[in-house]
Amino acid sequence: MITASPPELSTLVEHLVAVKPDLRPQEIGPRTSLTRDLGFDSLDLVRLAARIHEQHPEADLTPWLAGACQAGADSVGSMADHLARARRRDYVALARELAPAFAERAARHDADGGFPHENLAELVRTGYTAMTIPREYGGDGAGLGELCEAQQVLAGACASTAFSVNMHVHGLAMIAQLGGQDAEWVCRAVSEGAVIAGGFSEPGVGGNWWHPTTKAERVDGGYVLNGRKGFFTGFPGATHLFLSAATKDDRGLPQPMAFLVPKPDEGIRVIEEWDAAGMRATGSHTLAIEDFFVEDRWSVGEPGKLPLLFMTGVHWAWCSFASVFVGIARAALEHVTATQRRRVLSVIGKPNAHLPGVQFRVAEMATRLAAARAHLEAAVHADHDTAGPIAHYLDMSLMKMQVTRLAHEVVTLGMQVQGGSSLVSASPLQRMYRDVIAGLLVPPAADVVLEWAGKHALDVPIFAEPRWAE
Ligand SMILES: Cc1cc2nc3c(=O)[nH]c(=O)nc-3n(C[C@H](O)[C@H](O)[C@H](O)COP(=O)(O)OP(=O)(O)OC[C@H]3O[C@@H](n4cnc5c(N)ncnc54)[C@H](O)[C@@H]3O)c2cc1C
Repeated sequence: MITASPPELSTLVEHLVAVKPDLRPQEIGPRTSLTRDLGFDSLDLVRLAARIHEQHPEADLTPWLAGACQAGADSVGSMADHLARARRRDYVALARELAPAFAERAARHDADGGFPHENLAELVRTGYTAMTIPREYGGDGAGLGELCEAQQVLAGACASTAFSVNMHVHGLAMIAQLGGQDAEWVCRAVSEGAVIAGGFSEPGVGGNWWHPTTKAERVDGGYVLNGRKGFFTGFPGATHLFLSAATKDDRGLPQPMAFLVPKPDEGIRVIEEWDAAGMRATGSHTLAIEDFFVEDRWSVGEPGKLPLLFMTGVHWAWCSFASVFVGIARAALEHVTATQRRRVLSVIGKPNAHLPGVQFRVAEMATRLAAARAHLEAAVHADHDTAGPIAHYLDMSLMKMQVTRLAHEVVTLGMQVQGGSSLVSASPLQRMYRDVIAGLLVPPAADVVLEWAGKHALDVPIFAEPRWAE
């Protein structure tokens, strides 16, 4: 069910008053009936529909009028919901529209390792980067399921682009979930074109993001940050940086914090350009943070609450990460089946598709892909609100680990089906092979997940020291 946001309701009230100027806006609410309470007759309704259609050509009120007035369900709220639904963008369809051009450019970006700025510009221009702005902040409030499906489509076309924008869409959703001023300003900035990149892992800390070694020293009006960030995916295209650092509490104990800052001209420096075997066009540079002053207003959430913030919103992170690698596996299966149907082996005089080995491996690919998709789906639709933070974090982490392993297996099998030609630079499969392995390396670190999940299942305290029995 879609619920119209306050801005939509107030716009609708303006239309109602324009048609019937004697109405008092403050007396109109979502439950107010157009015909019974406001006295709209059929002529008023026709004038209202025409007026709305003129300003929003995509919104056709006729079907709503026919059904709602007859059923006596002609409330202002129900009309606003109908309009919201008509105007709402379908982000999976948008991803499908953008995908062909991204796929065409993918090989070039992979070859030169350049950041796909033009793809990101398209994602901003079309509103894709705003998809997870909640309805109460004026966005379409795309849910996790829609985000993950759309990301799979993009990843099948250009995994680097999908992975880069993933840092933005899931980070935005996590901050929006906090509500309050943090959510409000971020959503406003994104609706005006801001793009977020996130840096939580650090050299020497790696996937143990909840222990940042970047220091946040308290000073008048804010903090001074010093440290290193590895793998800052999407940095070249970002306008805002979401990053972690640790301050100290009164007892001198480290308090992990998060900051979301406009990308500065000074204080943050690229010390190593991303030049990697896979996900080559993600611009995942390594950064030095040097005496970087961050005003108080750029801190997100309360000091020390970063792990909890992340654990409660982790479904946005790990499900969207997993979806990128499922998208690569889907594209690999499509590519392999299409080629094997076409390619003719002269010894059998038929397409390769007739070979049993090809058939068996394609079937293995399909079953692994189905298992990956089912696990991801289950995680997307799990109860994210009432599960305990540790159990929730573990469920999502195990899913990401298993789904990315399956995606990796799908692409590896695809290479075997395709044979030697899959290794040549002109084959998209070799790019998928190099990209999909990143799924095993991005957080959460598999060994940490397995340790935590095993301990949790066995009632061994997760955070007790020493970690292993002496
Ligand atoms: C393509 C790509 C893009 C990335 N983008 C981002 C990004 O945008 N933002 C970001 O913050 N990070 C990003 N990362 C980094 C990622 O978050 C991990 O931090 C990083 O991959 C860990 O690499 P590392 O070399 O530090 O390995 P380490 O974390 O040192 O891990 C090495 C090995 O040690 C194991 N290990 C690590 N910690 C423990 C432990 N506590 N107990 C037991 N075993 C452990 C791991 O499982 C692994 O086998 C990206 C990584 C990749 C590959």
